[in-house]
Amino acid sequence: MAFGKDSLYPIALFTLVKPAELCATRYWNRYPGARVDTTVPHYEFSDPDLWADWHWTQRFPGSAELRAYFKYVADKWDLRKDSIFNTYVNSVVWHNDDSRWMIRTRDGRTFSARYFLPNTGFAAKRHIPDYKNLESFAGTWIHPSYWPKEEPDLKGKRIAMIGTGSTGVQMIQELAPIASEFTLFQRTPNLALPMGQVEYQGKEQGTSKDNYPSLYAGRKESFGGFDFSFLPMKTFDVDTEERQKTYQALWDHGDFHFWLATYYDMLFSDEANTEAYNFWYSSRPCMIFTVLTF
Ligand SMILES: Cc1cc2nc3c(=O)[nH]c(=O)nc-3n(C[C@H](O)[C@H](O)[C@H](O)COP(=O)(O)OP(=O)(O)OC[C@H]3O[C@@H](n4cnc5c(N)ncnc54)[C@H](O)[C@@H]3O)c2cc1C
Repeated sequence: MAFGKDSLYPIALFTLVKPAELCATRYWNRYPGARVDTTVPHYEFSDPDLWADWHWTQRFPGSAELRAYFKYVADKWDLRKDSIFNTYVNSVVWHNDDSRWMIRTRDGRTFSARYFLPNTGFAAKRHIPDYKNLESFAGTWIHPSYWPKEEPDLKGKRIAMIGTGSTGVQMIQELAPIASEFTLFQRTPNLALPMGQVEYQGKEQGTSKDNYPSLYAGRKESFGGFDFSFLPMKTFDVDTEERQKTYQALWDHGDFHFWLATYYDMLFSDEANTEAYNFWYSSRPCMIFTVLTF
């Protein structure tokens, strides 16, 4: 996210998104509960022309607000004029004679380019599991990345969900309370933490905009790309009481602090990792009651 407008030019952007919007992941993934896992302003472009006038309404914005933000970026940087929407690139060949790429699209157009950057994403292609008899399922099934633009009314319905990756964890929180009956199928329990959502009022953004330049500069130096780093000590350098207090403070702060602002050996030592896990285990707000194995 540390791009500047100048680093993008002169590039033609191809995207499969139909309307003239540049927000691929957030365009498709508009399922209930979809939001960013990173606090703003970390999840924001560092160009002052953009952040000076943009104000978020939440510390972890939802997908509609993220789409509005990417629309704002496309407007401000005037990106649509260099973008080709709803166009599938199906062949790219390097030509030695003129040292250029020949790009072909499915609708038969060709483009010649000196540089070709295939930023096709790791999640742009959906995976729909090959479940037996899916086609004869009498109810409605929805893949979260095909969530209908017109919100389906799921209130009072019997809902079953498969999977508890980050998408599943987000959706459960929205769908379980409105369903008449909610069943979750999960292969592997996930380790989730309370994020610590904060509602912002007006121009208030949690962090003063005066601090943005140093925050953006600082994130290049940290392990996780944030303006915070690991503690300069190991897990067992302190006694149990102090360690529990630290874990609690990290937990209460929310965000990625429990993971990336903790003792610096947490990710690299089994013992340190287990100690943090034990704190998580004793603090988690819910239990899994029924485990069925097939
Ligand atoms: C549900 C979900 C939630 C996420 N949440 C977060 C989060 O909270 N925080 C975070 O930091 N990251 C998150 N990510 C990851 C983040 O969205 C991706 O890392 C990021 O979008 C990758 O950007 P990208 O430009 O590489 O690819 P993408 O954003 O996927 O863009 C790829 C583009 O290439 C286009 N494309 C692909 N193939 C072709 C082709 N043959 N011809 C033409 N165009 C093509 C696609 O249409 C798309 O427009 C999430 C991802 C998903 C799926």
